Amino acid sequence: MIAAGEVVERPVSVVKELLENSIDSGASQITVEVKSGGTELVRVVDNGQGIPADEVPIAFYRHATSKLADTDSLDRVATMGFRGEALPSIAAVSRIVIQTRPHDETAGFRMALNWGEAVESGSEGCAAGTAVEVSDLFGNQPARRKFLRSPQAETARVQELVSRYSLAFPEIRFRLENDGRASLTTPGNGQPREALLAVYGSQVTKDMLEVHVEDPETGYSVEGFAGAPSVSRANRTYLTFFVNRRLIQSRMLSFAVEEAYTGLLQVKRYPVAAINVVLPYADVDVNSHPAKREVRFHQENRVFSLAQRAVRAALMTDSP
Ligand code: ADP
Ligand code: MG
Repeated sequence: MIAAGEVVERPVSVVKELLENSIDSGASQITVEVKSGGTELVRVVDNGQGIPADEVPIAFYRHATSKLADTDSLDRVATMGFRGEALPSIAAVSRIVIQTRPHDETAGFRMALNWGEAVESGSEGCAAGTAVEVSDLFGNQPARRKFLRSPQAETARVQELVSRYSLAFPEIRFRLENDGRASLTTPGNGQPREALLAVYGSQVTKDMLEVHVEDPETGYSVEGFAGAPSVSRANRTYLTFFVNRRLIQSRMLSFAVEEAYTGLLQVKRYPVAAINVVLPYADVDVNSHPAKREVRFHQENRVFSLAQRAVRAALMTDSP
């Protein structure tokens, strides 16, 4: 339960874990449905590789699937999941139903658990891919449930999360439904600008500048988009950072990007940017906190200056 609390703080953490699993599965289409901001229901459906029937129960045993057991440390975090505790943690505090079918199998498999106890499992016809439905989150922990914010606040967090992932994975068609209404759809055609358009609209997108700089010495690169100074915002919600397309939080990168705009923005205004840092997995620690995803770069100064240089270069191309 304590481990569960670290992974599953609120509905958006459920969405994040399920979304990352769907991305890891190679899906080209992912639909996220939430009701009441996920406090009532979170459902994530993908068309990815699916899970073979005999492996479904194993996925719910804590750490059974932990990829940290792999000795090949270089690619151990090549997928977003690497602890094998998301599904068991979510299952411990909710009612969860999984339906899954690998593409090359004719029958699918369905398993339901209530508060971590299997209540149903067996083969079932279903679409290729995986659908996971989580309801009654923290229903077995009234104290914890009380701490959830309003459905509106949770909805906003989910919207923000799915939006950010849409920017990092323009080749995936995302669809988000809030209480039955589509609140985000992306084309999934691999065009980063079209993902930006879907998330930020045309006003912002038309003034987004392409960022791309590589450090020949380390091989690190920084890529993505930065808004022209004319597109500024009153807060940092529009700053998104990824490492190898894994969503992260990084004050260091915020500072680097904001500094690149020095003199270009009015006070209390922040840039819009979606920046991906590409570097060897061995050069970054991503596991310092299971949910927060604040990362530690081994060569922090290099990443800082590269990010700043990359954004400055983009802004130069914008000057008249
Ligand atoms: P982790 O992602 O850290 O491995 P999870 O608990 O999130 O752990 O998932 C357990 C395992 O279940 C995954 O490693 C993966 O093999 C399988 N799995 C979960 N969700 C999906 C999905 N949407 N599609 C395919 N496989 C999945
Ligand atoms: Mg996972």
